[in-house]
Amino acid sequence: MTDNRRFNRVLIANRGEIALRIQRACRQLGLETVAVYSDADRESRHVQEADIALCIGPAAASRSYLDRDGLLLAARATGATAIHPGYGFLSENADFADAVEEAGLTFIGPTGTSIRMMGDKIMAKRTMLAAGVPCVPGSDGPLPESPDEILALAEKVGFPVIVKASGGGGGRGMRVVHRAEDLIEAVGLTSREAQQAFGNPTLYLEKFMQKPRHIEIQVLCDTHGTALWLGARDCSLQRRHQKVLEEAPPPGIDPAVIAEIGERCAAACRHIGYRGAGTFEFLYEDGVFAFIEMNTRVQVEHPVTEQITDIDIVAEQLRIAQGDRLTIRQEDIVFRGHAIECRLNAEDGLTFLPSPGTVTRWDLPGGPGIRVDSHVVSGYTIPPYYDSLIGKIIGYGATREEAIARLQVALAEMKVEGISTNIGLHQDLLANPTVRKGSMDIHFLEKWLEERA
Ligand code: ADP
Repeated sequence: MTDNRRFNRVLIANRGEIALRIQRACRQLGLETVAVYSDADRESRHVQEADIALCIGPAAASRSYLDRDGLLLAARATGATAIHPGYGFLSENADFADAVEEAGLTFIGPTGTSIRMMGDKIMAKRTMLAAGVPCVPGSDGPLPESPDEILALAEKVGFPVIVKASGGGGGRGMRVVHRAEDLIEAVGLTSREAQQAFGNPTLYLEKFMQKPRHIEIQVLCDTHGTALWLGARDCSLQRRHQKVLEEAPPPGIDPAVIAEIGERCAAACRHIGYRGAGTFEFLYEDGVFAFIEMNTRVQVEHPVTEQITDIDIVAEQLRIAQGDRLTIRQEDIVFRGHAIECRLNAEDGLTFLPSPGTVTRWDLPGGPGIRVDSHVVSGYTIPPYYDSLIGKIIGYGATREEAIARLQVALAEMKVEGISTNIGLHQDLLANPTVRKGSMDIHFLEKWLEERA
C-alpha cells in the first residue's frame, strides 16, 4: 500500500446520526472533518462541530447527498482527501466509489469492484456459493424469460417463494408468492417496480422461509490480507423488511455454530479481496444458516457489536482506509455481555407515518450500560425529506436480562415532546414474553402488530 492513501481531512458524505458517529471517530483519531449539508440540515449538530462545513444543495437528496459531482467538488474545495459515505445514500454506489478513487481521493469503504459484485444480489450469491458460504435455495441466477420455465423453477424450489430484484435494497423490490397461479403476475409487477426503483428489472427467486431469524455476521478486513469476523447480530424484529431492534449476540444460538459461519465469512472476504467493514446477512432456521446478501458498508446496528467486542468499527474503517494493518487478532476477540439497540424513529405510534417537526423537549437517558447515538438536540427541527431515524438507544449488560432491564429504565427516562416517536413500541416489545425469551422469527413483529391492531 502506497502512502498516498493517507489522509488527514475527511469529508462525511452523509447526515443525521451516522454523520455525527463518523465525526466522533475522526476527531478521536485526530482527523479533521468536513461536513457537507443540504439546505434542510443547516442546523444539524455535526455541521456545527465540523472543522469545515459546506452547503452542497437543496433539501432534495438527489441534488445534495446523492450529487456525486457536487460531493467531489466539495472535497476539492475543502481540501478533504478522503470520503466516508456512511450508510444509505451513496454508500453502496460502485460508480461513486470508483469516481472518488479516480479523483485521487480515498473512498472509506471497499473497492468499486467489491461493491458492484455484492450490489448484484445474483452475483453475490454465486460468489458466496463459490467461496463455500451456504445460500437460501432458489433460482441460482436470473429468472428465465418464459413463464413456463419460471413456473417450473418455482415448483422445483417449492411454494411459497419470494421473488426478488437483483439490484434491490432497503427492503424494497421483493414479493412473496404463495400460489402458482399468482406467480407470473407477481413477477411482472416486481420487475416493473425494480426497473423504476433500481434501474434494473432483473429478478431471481428464493424459497420463502416460514420462520427464520435474521442473523448477520460483521466483518472487518484490512488491505494486507487480514479478515476478521466480529460475531453475530440478531435483527429478526422487522417491519416491512426494515429492522426495528437488533441485538448481539443472537440469543440461544451455540457460539460454536456462529464461529463456524463467521470463519466462512472471513474466508470469503479473503477469497474476494474484500476491504473495510461489511456484513453478511443470513436467514437462520432449524440450525442452518443461509446467505441472503452482503452489505458493503457500516450498518445502522453496528453499535451492538461494538458494545460486546469493545472494537470501534468506524475508527477501524478509517484506519483500514489509511492502509494500516489491523492490530486486532481473531483469537483476541472476545464477546462479553449482551447489547440491544432500539432504533428511534420520528413516526406515529399507530400508523408508522413519519412525524417530522420541531423537537421541543429531548431529555436523554443515562446510567451504566446506556449509549445514545443521536444528532437530535432540543429545539432541533426534523426535516421531512429523509428517513425517520432520529437516533439509537443501545443498552448493554452482563446478561441479556440486564441489557433489557437497563433499556427499560432508559426508555422510561427518555422524554421527547413536539414529535411522535416509536418509544412506546420499544417498551411494548421489551415487555413481550416472546421477545424476552429471545425466540422471535422475522415474521413475529408484523403478526404481533396485526393481532393488537
Ligand atoms: P434488502 O437488501 O432489501 O434488505 P434482503 O435480501 O436483505 O433485502 O432481505 C430483507 C429481509 O426480507 C430479510 O431480513 C427477511 O426478513 C426478508 N427475506 C428476504 N429473503 C427471504 C426469504 N427467502 N424468506 C423469507 N424472508 C426473506
